[in-house]
Parts: sequence; structure tokens; C-alpha cells
Amino acid sequence: MATHLITGGAGFIGSHLADYLLGRGERVIVIDNLSTGRFSNIEHLEGRSGFECVIDDVRNEHLLDELIRRADRVFHLAASVGVRLIIERQTESLINNILGTERVLRSASRYRKSVLITSTSEVYGKSQKPVFSESDDRIMGPTDKARWGYASSKATDEFLALAHYQESKLPVVVVRLFNTVGPRQTGRYGMVIPNFVAQALKAQPLSVFGDGTQTRCFAHVHDVVPALVELMNRPAAYGKVFNIGSNEEISINQLAERVIQKAGSNSAITYVPYEAAYPPGFEDMERRVPDLRRIGDVIGYRPRKTLDDILADVVEEQRRHLQAEPNAGAAG
Ligand code: UDP
Repeated sequence: MATHLITGGAGFIGSHLADYLLGRGERVIVIDNLSTGRFSNIEHLEGRSGFECVIDDVRNEHLLDELIRRADRVFHLAASVGVRLIIERQTESLINNILGTERVLRSASRYRKSVLITSTSEVYGKSQKPVFSESDDRIMGPTDKARWGYASSKATDEFLALAHYQESKLPVVVVRLFNTVGPRQTGRYGMVIPNFVAQALKAQPLSVFGDGTQTRCFAHVHDVVPALVELMNRPAAYGKVFNIGSNEEISINQLAERVIQKAGSNSAITYVPYEAAYPPGFEDMERRVPDLRRIGDVIGYRPRKTLDDILADVVEEQRRHLQAEPNAGAAG
């Protein structure tokens, strides 16, 4: 039985990872400052044997160092996530992402603990390639468009992690997450699926940003989480970067229609110009499809859950919340 430290463990993905590891009889320590994470995501784990939760910030160096010393492995998920948050709180988000990762890597290096660093498909930037492969060039927008600060902070995290591997063979794995979705994801930071489902269930119009021809591929968190653990089990993954996601591509227009259908809703669709949807400094990405060959080769990863499975789970969860609290914002 190993001890796994999950930074950001009260967040959407981190809390599913905690569930998964505890379910396999492992020990889990969560550290989360509850900035975007929610205590309700891990409340059900309180008192469970092998589970420990620390509400604090990963930038609290001494505490973090002590937790990493006690752990066998570190899953570093604590970050300012989402383009909207980065644009709205630029300084804090950039520092949080870069310093947090630097401290995690420094302590992991001190105690020689393996670390998984979570990055994002955003690092591909404005690349027009039909499919993004891990070694592709990145095409970043200018620094006066704050959106690109998120991608750049995560790319800096990747450089730091890979530098530790190259210089001292620290066992690090870098993953680039592509639009991970599922229960517990909140719509508060603009994520499209929880937003659309909330709107559909409340018979409000679904807000499609731009013309809705932009596409995305959505992966179920229940596919993503076991892959994170499996990558950490494979020394062949150390020192490498992996895309994780799904390659089932859908336009945002089609997604809106699918959500309306799956929720049994009669909502309309409304188009919101990007300038009204986002603060200044935003540019959208037209497409974003992961090449999944590398992760397929190393751990045999194939997404099992379809978009319909994802929507069924999110609709079911939000319906349950709405029934319990009819006046609550189901999107979180
Ligand atoms: N989007 C939308 N309506 C919403 C929220 C998002 O049309 O209520 C669009 C957004 O502009 C983007 C896509 O849906 O093109 C995915 O957005 P999300 O924030 O979920 O993830 P991103 O891929 O931008 O990181």
C-alpha cells in the first residue's frame, strides 16, 4: 500500500483520483486551498481509513515539503485552471501555476519521489494541425493577450519537470489534459458541458460562444483518472509528455443540440459573441484533437466512455442537485 499525495485533491479531477486510489486500497493525502476546489467533492471521504486532507496552499513550502517526504508519489493537480480564471486573475494565476510546480518538483527531487505534472492541451496554442502530437511545435499568441499566459505557465511547468528528469533522472510524467469532463465539474469557470446541461435543465437558452463551428473532444474523467495512475506505474513513461483525452470530435453547435436532446429539454440556442462572453484578451481555438498513439503504446490507453456516456452522467448529477435544491445554480 503506497501513499499518494494529490495536490488540488478537492478539485474536479483530483477528487475522482482520490476516490479511485482509495478504492484500490491505497493511502491518499489531499492538499487543497479550496480556491477552485470544493470541500463537497471530498466530504464523503472524511473519516475513511487511509484518507487525510490538509486545507492549505502548495506554496506553503514547509508543509508541502513535509507532505512530499511522507508520500511515495505525488500527483500535482493544484493549479489555476481555465482560461477565464487566468484572464480575470492574471498575476495570481501565473505565480500559482509556476511557483506551485517549482516547489513540488524541488521537494520531490529532495526526497526522490515520482511526480505527475498536469499540463493542458492549451500548450499547443493556435496550431492549425488537425491532430496534436506531443512533439509538435507550439504556436503561441502574443503576450498582450492574457489567454496565452495560461498556456505559457503550463509550458514552463513542463520545461521544469523535464529538466529535473534530464538533469537527475527524477521520475516525472507530464500529461496534457484535453477537455476532461464529468460529474463534479463546475460551470462556474465557464466550462461548456456543465454550463449547457444546467441551461438545458432549467429551460434556459444554451449560450453558444462565437458561431459554434469550433470543435472539441471531451473525455470522461473516469477514463482519464486510471490513465494517470497507470502512467505513474510505468518507468517507460518517465521523462515523457502524454496527451490524454478522447478523439471523438464535435462542434459546439452539435454539442448544444445533443445536450438539449439528452436532457429532454426544449431550450433554444442563443449565440453570444466572444467579446461579450469573455474579458478582453481572449482568442478561441478552432479545433483541438489529441494524437493518442503515444499513451496507447505505453499503457494501452483507449477512451471507453463516449460523449453520450458523459452527457448521461452530467445530466443525472445535475438533475439530482436540482431536485435537492431547486433554486441552486446547478452549474455550481
Ligand atoms: N463555450 C460555449 N458556451 C459556454 C462555454 C463555452 O460556447 O457556455 C465554448 C468555448 O468558447 C469553447 C468551447 O465551448 O469554444 C469549450 O469551452 P471550455 O471552456 O469548456 O473549454 P476550452 O476548450 O475553451 O478550454
